[in-house]
Amino acid sequence: MTDLNTIPHFINGELVQTASERHADVYNPALGVPVSRVVLGTADDVNTAVAAAAAAFPSWSATPPLTRARVLFKYLQLCQQHTDEFAAMITREHGKTFADAQGEVARGIEMVEFAVGIPQLLKGEFTDQIARGIDAWSMRQSLGVVAGITPFNFPVMVPMWMFPVAIACGNTFILKPSERDPSASLLHAKLLTEAGLPKGVFNVIQGDKVTVDALLDHPEVQAISFVGSTPIAEYIYARGCAKGKRVQALGGAKNHMVVMPDADMEMTVDALIGAAYGSAGERCMAISVVVAVGDAGDKLMGALAERTAALKIRDGMAPEAEMGPVVSIQAKQRIEKLIGEGVEQGATLVVDGRNCVVASRENGFFVGGTLFDHVTAEMSIYQEEIFGPVLCVMRAPDVATAVKLINSNEYGNGVAIYTRDGGVAREFVRQIQVGMVGVNVPLPVPMAFNSFGGWKRSMFGDHHAYGPEGVRFYTRHKAVMQRWPNTASAGVEFAFPQMK
Ligand code: NAD
Repeated sequence: MTDLNTIPHFINGELVQTASERHADVYNPALGVPVSRVVLGTADDVNTAVAAAAAAFPSWSATPPLTRARVLFKYLQLCQQHTDEFAAMITREHGKTFADAQGEVARGIEMVEFAVGIPQLLKGEFTDQIARGIDAWSMRQSLGVVAGITPFNFPVMVPMWMFPVAIACGNTFILKPSERDPSASLLHAKLLTEAGLPKGVFNVIQGDKVTVDALLDHPEVQAISFVGSTPIAEYIYARGCAKGKRVQALGGAKNHMVVMPDADMEMTVDALIGAAYGSAGERCMAISVVVAVGDAGDKLMGALAERTAALKIRDGMAPEAEMGPVVSIQAKQRIEKLIGEGVEQGATLVVDGRNCVVASRENGFFVGGTLFDHVTAEMSIYQEEIFGPVLCVMRAPDVATAVKLINSNEYGNGVAIYTRDGGVAREFVRQIQVGMVGVNVPLPVPMAFNSFGGWKRSMFGDHHAYGPEGVRFYTRHKAVMQRWPNTASAGVEFAFPQMK
């Protein structure tokens, strides 16, 4: 494996190969073979990156917001020109289809389109004459060096949930991408450099737990944004907060779709096939559970089974591919084990995606679309986030039972309801304890101009990601009161001041 290209760090404007002896193989999951290696950073590498980011901070944070925005405008144009290059990297290392990868890049670019509005977003509030001769205002200031730790499933978009807003706000940034698909992080670095971003403002440190722990413990890192699985999110939140950092940690999910008997079933099946099997189910907003109310299940199952069995599973670069492989052999084995447990625990396996082989890609990590019916809340296929192309159908007698089930689930990322009844939908939206809700929309991922985040164990921390919440997360509020000496002095006051 030593002849494989090694993916380095990017520190202070340079690609950096370090003395680290630790590396990980990066696979093309459609081929099932390693295509490169990535260096796994040490605590020393993290120290070097933080020192570079800290050195760049005074000048970058003092750069006018409009000048910062202009760099991002150039980066935005470059991202548009390089969309297909990003998308090909995503498909090669993650496995999702090329069209889906292009969509991921487009959603990432929207984050930059939001961030270029930073001069407007950073405006504070001003009150003239808050007391006699005194004015008051508020302003938001950048934090310093901030870090983002990201998952494998959106190697371009999820980092873009973080760094465009963070650097637009005047922070300097260290990205720790997933070690499973690290290449796109360096294309971001290249394009930001071409756009004129000063050295040290954006850095990439490749690695795993060792690298993450060094970031969590480093006293100069002011804030951590994390997206990944719930156990790690909880760990990041606890350790980061214990070290006095601001932390937003977005975790895993189990997203339900409630289907009412009056729903448009054709529209519902179309939505479900895309939302459950798109990106092989490896989306934190993927629908993995259908809660069919009344006889909705009987109306759905025929078409769902037919469409699931007919999914075109290919190498993600094949133009006709609807679903590519899952990310790793471990993911494939875990998903297939859970499918086996579903059968053992009494669910009805309607379409079995195990032992899926794709012609001329026999070693690829493919799992076929899998459909279960009559799943119950105690089964492990319901309890665990499968993160693969497995859709579980549950039956509920009424919408109240469906709401109770969803509200008892430990996760609260996304949810959808399909119905033609506005009253039922409205009540559902009000009662459901989930952060992002779709009404006849399967994946209610907020646009860049809103903010993204789940409830319960799908998110630890206060501020959701990107959008206005991102601006709040990456800045601190400062309140100022000012008086100038040309006002007649009221003399010394010993009592707490009162309005006169
Ligand atoms: P993961 O938790 O395994 O890894 C995420 C990041 O944490 C990676 O950069 C990884 O290197 C690092 N990491 C892994 N183990 C660690 C440890 N023990 N200590 C410190 N750092 C560690 O997640 P993943 O498998 O890459 O991504 C899939 C998960 O991410 C799913 O659970 C999915 O639901 C979740 N996800 C959530 C959202 C969201 O917005 N809520 C979005 C995308 C993905």
